Amino acid sequence: MLVHEMVQLGAKRSGIRELFEYGLKRKAEVGAENVFDFSIGNPSVPAPDAVQAEFRSQAAREDTVKVHGYTSATGAMSVREAVAKNLNARFDAKARPENLFFTCGAAPALMSTMKAMCVPGAEFIILAPYFPEYPTFIRAIGGKVVIVPANTTDFDLHIEDVEPYVTEHTQAIIINSPNNPSGVVYQKAALEALAELLRKKSAETGHPIYIIADEPYRELVYDGYEAPFIPNIYENTVVCYSWSKSLSLPGERIGYVYVPDQAADSTDLFNAVAGSARALGHICAPTTAQYVVERCCCVMPDIKAYDENRKTLYKGLTELGYTCVYPHGAFYMLLKAPFGTALEFSEKAKEYNLLIPPCEPFGCPGYLRLSTCVSHDMILKSLPAFKALLEENR
Ligand code: PLP
Repeated sequence: MLVHEMVQLGAKRSGIRELFEYGLKRKAEVGAENVFDFSIGNPSVPAPDAVQAEFRSQAAREDTVKVHGYTSATGAMSVREAVAKNLNARFDAKARPENLFFTCGAAPALMSTMKAMCVPGAEFIILAPYFPEYPTFIRAIGGKVVIVPANTTDFDLHIEDVEPYVTEHTQAIIINSPNNPSGVVYQKAALEALAELLRKKSAETGHPIYIIADEPYRELVYDGYEAPFIPNIYENTVVCYSWSKSLSLPGERIGYVYVPDQAADSTDLFNAVAGSARALGHICAPTTAQYVVERCCCVMPDIKAYDENRKTLYKGLTELGYTCVYPHGAFYMLLKAPFGTALEFSEKAKEYNLLIPPCEPFGCPGYLRLSTCVSHDMILKSLPAFKALLEENR
């Protein structure tokens, strides 16, 4: 006997994956240069030179037993020390190495954190548009998914939208900023209002309601924007971080959970995160990648290419008559379907070799997500196809 739900989950590819696979097939048929694939969020900028050099020097180390061996489940002490120091220098975080639990990226960081909080009846709030894996993760650990619909006026965080969804069962709200897929970067005032609301609701319900800050895009910000460090705004914040996007290392699977001392029940919470990770099969984060981030956690990404892509695509599409949400962070841009449903528009776009996933799985019907982590040349070459798509179908 098998678990039907898991069979279904495994058998069904995500819409984004489907489109990506379709793109590969189409490239073989019509030539790669004629297919405009905006589907996938795989960084297109190589890892910074210093990071690549550090991987090479780790590979050349003579103490291979150490570099290929297990570390402690929490991560090597020297690595946690370096990252705590970096957080303190950048955000005055007052982090200690003991607050950091290294994981295989942000996804398992989120799973371990939510499992740690998932008492019977637990509800987790997510804000649309959201990373499509959130509902899958929440259901897998036995939690209830509570969705705050997208505020399509500006896709920002509005406290009055969130308030009705906070109940006595709310354990946490996931805040993903810079946001995938909208590129919106929540600002301090909105986060402070959220903190106030959560303090009030925590007092009413008699238990802490946490913010889980999902931050793989923290450093990918433009136009002078900054993503506020949420533990400095709300004490009961747990940060799930990853270097997948910032240092272009998604395949290396390296990230962490940061449980600040100031968070309610912080020692128990940290232990529960570690316990949940263990129960989910975590042994340790990849050792080589840990030692790389020990040396490279201060390296900042070169965001010039993403920045240019974002501007070129926004300008090109809006001049053609499309409506887009101007992103200040991450490497995505929302596009409003100019005719039909987002799914219908996405299907029609395929006829023009434009691969653009609809945002239904992101909880945002009527919109599509364009990945801007693509080549600049592809963006320029795609614009005539966008033009024809609109002119011939509207
Ligand atoms: N959270 C968000 C918002 C993401 O966009 C992604 C990946 O695309 C993840 C988490 C997972 O990141 P990781 O590769 O570090 O597991």
